[in-house]
Amino acid sequence: MQTLFSAEQLENPRIAEANGILRKCVHCGFCTATCPTYVLLGDELDSPRGRIYLIKEMLEQGRPAGPEEAKHIDRCLSCLSCMTTCPSGVNYMHLIDGARAHVEDTYRRPVMDRLFRAVLARVVPDARMFRLALGLGKLGRPFASLIAALPGMKPATAMLDLAPKTVHGAGEATKTGVHEATGEKKGRVALLTGCVQDVLEPSINRATISVLNRLGYDVVVPEGMGCCGSATHHLGIKADALSRARRNVDAWTAELAGDALDAIIINASGCGTTVKDYGYMLRLDEAYREKAKRVAGLARDITEFLDGKLPDGIAAPRPLRIAYHSACSMQHGQKITRQPKALLRAAGFEVTDIPEGHLCCGSAGTYNMLQPEIAERLKARKLVNISSVKPDVVATGNIGCITQLGRDAGVPVVHTVEIIDWATGGPVPSAMRNGA
Ligand code: SF4
Ligand code: SF4
Repeated sequence: MQTLFSAEQLENPRIAEANGILRKCVHCGFCTATCPTYVLLGDELDSPRGRIYLIKEMLEQGRPAGPEEAKHIDRCLSCLSCMTTCPSGVNYMHLIDGARAHVEDTYRRPVMDRLFRAVLARVVPDARMFRLALGLGKLGRPFASLIAALPGMKPATAMLDLAPKTVHGAGEATKTGVHEATGEKKGRVALLTGCVQDVLEPSINRATISVLNRLGYDVVVPEGMGCCGSATHHLGIKADALSRARRNVDAWTAELAGDALDAIIINASGCGTTVKDYGYMLRLDEAYREKAKRVAGLARDITEFLDGKLPDGIAAPRPLRIAYHSACSMQHGQKITRQPKALLRAAGFEVTDIPEGHLCCGSAGTYNMLQPEIAERLKARKLVNISSVKPDVVATGNIGCITQLGRDAGVPVVHTVEIIDWATGGPVPSAMRNGA
């Protein structure tokens, strides 16, 4: 794609990078066919190619974002399906991340939109605040229909709708320290315990630690670690996301300087995509550039790390047909597709794919709260596809998808590592205790 940035504009490293990305696009439009928002809405401006043009014009003209740009950029799920499809290697992720930051810096949103985004940015990355907000959400749920009738309150209704009935206290797994390997020690890894996940489903961290300990790995939960920054990164709040990334880089670098680490384990694929991008996110920060690259190079999804490490001859505790739902951040963001299914098969289960598996379930971080209508349509489509393969259980690797699909799937939706833990001696995954 031809671009018309001036020499002066190209002196700005962020514009120079955007220029490099834009120039790779040959506007073939292959990406439109696999873009969930284009598939649903049929508007070129809600396709990757349309958004690329929109971003190009906005940046070339050096102008602030307006309501049109904000609308179509906000509607993007950052699912990165377009990157899997693109034959030219366009790094849409870095382009849209930069565009979101530009919108945030230059566009004055309507007041309710600003308010909801500010609340999400404050509450989601902070487990204590999130826990408190869920408690308040329980009190507000009986009034959901009244709230829904008020103008501009759809995100609030979506938040109430997504809030779980049970709010868990701080889990053992989040406590800093070392969870020691049982049996012969093979290595030492750090675990990102996350923010939202540990409140919504602490059993995922517990299962991750148990499996790793059982396989001979000490698991460190380092002092000072926190949210990976992905929530605010996708809201375009760059400074907050970068400061969270620096904090984690510091925490893991301190561990590396101590007893060293074989890997940094992440069990929420949305977070994994972000941590693996820390090297890029902090590329302009001289003090952090190298440390961030090192940390990003050690990041592994739990299924990626466990691949090939399970003992032979595991018998499934119960014969089950498992539909594997590949989160967008897993399949498109991290290109991890084979390993989770191979692990489930190695644990003795029957595993099936879900039709239209490349399409997002509508969760996408805070998207299902900020764009509830599109998210609901994507969820409904995903649920039809899930039921078509008649599974006993759905396995996935991202808490966002578990929350989005869990209540309405008709079968338990659990994290892959909980099933692996169960098959290797741990408890039945909590969502499966009342059935399946
Ligand atoms: S598939 Fe790639 S090159 Fe083709 S229009 Fe989409 S982003 Fe551009
Ligand atoms: S990230 Fe997903 S929603 Fe956004 S343009 Fe690409 S395919 Fe479409």
